[in-house]
Amino acid sequence: MALILQKFGGTSVATAEKIHAAAAKVIAAKTAGNQVVVVVSAMGHTTDELLDLAKEICSNPPKRELDQLLATGEQVTIALIAMALHAQGHEAISFTGGQIGLLTDNAHSKARIRDIDKKRIQTELDHGKIVIVAGFQGVTESGDVTTLGRGGSNATLVALGAVLGGVCENFTDVDGVFTADPRIVKNARKIDRISYDEMMELSSVGAGVLQTRAVEFAKKYNVPIHVRNAGHDRPGTWIVAETKAMEHVVVAGCALKKDLTRITLKNIPDRPGIVARIFTAVAEHNIVVDDIIQNVMDDNTANISFTVEHGDLADLKPVVDRLIVELGGSATYEKDLAKVSAVGVGMKQAAGVAGTMFSALAQAGINIQNISTSEIRISCTVARQDADRALQAVHAAFGLGN
Ligand code: ASP
Ligand code: MG
Repeated sequence: MALILQKFGGTSVATAEKIHAAAAKVIAAKTAGNQVVVVVSAMGHTTDELLDLAKEICSNPPKRELDQLLATGEQVTIALIAMALHAQGHEAISFTGGQIGLLTDNAHSKARIRDIDKKRIQTELDHGKIVIVAGFQGVTESGDVTTLGRGGSNATLVALGAVLGGVCENFTDVDGVFTADPRIVKNARKIDRISYDEMMELSSVGAGVLQTRAVEFAKKYNVPIHVRNAGHDRPGTWIVAETKAMEHVVVAGCALKKDLTRITLKNIPDRPGIVARIFTAVAEHNIVVDDIIQNVMDDNTANISFTVEHGDLADLKPVVDRLIVELGGSATYEKDLAKVSAVGVGMKQAAGVAGTMFSALAQAGINIQNISTSEIRISCTVARQDADRALQAVHAAFGLGN
């Protein structure tokens, strides 16, 4: 008997009606002769609402308590889905992350999955039950509730796919992965198949469909993911291992990340160990930085800038303040930045990709601030006010539209 893992995102379980519709998809998979595991997110905007509520109570809530709070969102949905299945005559059982031994590290709000005890799930599946699992949450070794970062239900889905062995269907409110955000680029096209590496790069530079970490996991354990619309039965986008044919596509898609801040540390000592000290301190707070640029001055000092997401600023500021006290110098913060990126495995072989991208931005009259690249990605930092136009220009320059 094959195993199918289905995940329903927040919008696909936002109302009682939608929960019944999701349950109908689960039942269809079950009655087709499969064992079915279902992973669910919190209903609608519940996670955002809980976050707002927390902020009303406390401006910088303790991360442990925030996780305790946020994990309740998914717990509501699992019980309701199980009830919907019961109402339609099917046996189902729901579990929180803790109940299936989904162990994580201690990094509250962005914990990483360490282990899943599949015994409990397997036993219930073998008894013919549909198993419902709360996405986005786990527990630490000592039993504290953790969450896996925004969009973390996908990580739960893929991790379960890896340990149980099965196909993952990721039901959401869009038709799949697009060549760019269709809300910004009107003629963006749905991609039928995309490689893990491309998807990972696209997610890390702003494509909202799937959390980077989930795709990383899928690649590691070779779990295929089908991202599809919960509102109809048409195929969406398959995220799979890279094939030869994919190399012919130079740019598979573009993405935009808004709300970036650039921090510049000025006049800090230019000697071995300083950069290590700065970024070790930042990493200890689980803050992800990119686009690090260092300029060495004539007077044995250096300026170092890097970008972070706005959301990380509250955590970062005290770290930077401490570094300035220790190292001397000063810090400036430039908000209102955005980053536009083009991604494709074909870039490894193709020449002139950067030139095409820079020319497109030049023709649109957009100033490029930082440039960063990987083997399969080129990114340019631009002013936030130019962000949408930058994405449109780059998407058009690579001929990606319909
Ligand atoms: N409910 C969580 C969030 O909104 C997790 C998820 O939806 O995947 O980020
Ligand atoms: Mg959500």
